[in-house]
Amino acid sequence: MEKKVLIELKKKLEEERSFLEKALDKFADKDKKIPYDYDTRFPGDGGRSSSDDENAEEVETYDKLLAVEYALETRLKETGEALEKIKKGDNSYGRCEVCGKAISIARLKANSAAKTCTHCAGIEKPS
Ligand SMILES: [Zn+2]
Repeated sequence: MEKKVLIELKKKLEEERSFLEKALDKFADKDKKIPYDYDTRFPGDGGRSSSDDENAEEVETYDKLLAVEYALETRLKETGEALEKIKKGDNSYGRCEVCGKAISIARLKANSAAKTCTHCAGIEKPS
């Protein structure tokens, strides 16, 4: 891969990582023991609300936040792992983890953390 392209993709990944970290920080606490793991904070006063309605609402919000947390966390993990590969400099970044072929630059530009080529990801049918 061209160095110029790699630098561009690395920048994209770094921007994405800081965006994801900021988004997660708003409602979740980072688990320092597990990399890329966050714990969603329970909204409200921790279940001491007076009315049942209010509690139900808080549980609903919490469930929604958990789903968002999971999606952001997964993305953050992928982004972080891609950046680690670039840092290692062993050419594993941009290489499909399934077939070992180079992932197309177009795919990496659309999804800089992609681990598989479009073929192995099932996006592209073999011709
Ligand atoms: Zn592949």
